[in-house]
Amino acid sequence: MTEAKLDPRGRPADDIVGWTCPHGLHAGKGCIACYHASTEADPALPLWRVAVWFTSERPMPIRALKAVRRHGRHFALDQPSTPLVYLLSGQARAATGTEAIAGLIGFLLANRHVVDTFTVTEVRAVSS
Ligand SMILES: [Zn+2]
Repeated sequence: MTEAKLDPRGRPADDIVGWTCPHGLHAGKGCIACYHASTEADPALPLWRVAVWFTSERPMPIRALKAVRRHGRHFALDQPSTPLVYLLSGQARAATGTEAIAGLIGFLLANRHVVDTFTVTEVRAVSS
């Protein structure tokens, strides 16, 4: 990951340190357990708006981009103007921004039919 960051406006520094989710995985690599945890998270936990930019080795068909929306939970997969660069955005409930990020990227890991090989280049998370 070349340029990962959390939004400095919303987050205490201790959320940023480590980048390791409770399952011991680097948030930037994603965590399927965090993804599943966020789908049944305590409604009292903070709601995070997360954006993940990543590159894919192969172009993703428009059909796949639209399929992500059907997963609901305010997920969207968009293609900015740069070829092979994609933006996954979504909302997730989690105790920390690191878990929210690990969970959103975990969504990609859990949906290999959408994108098989990807590299995360930038991440932002803001709690509302
Ligand atoms: Zn995890």
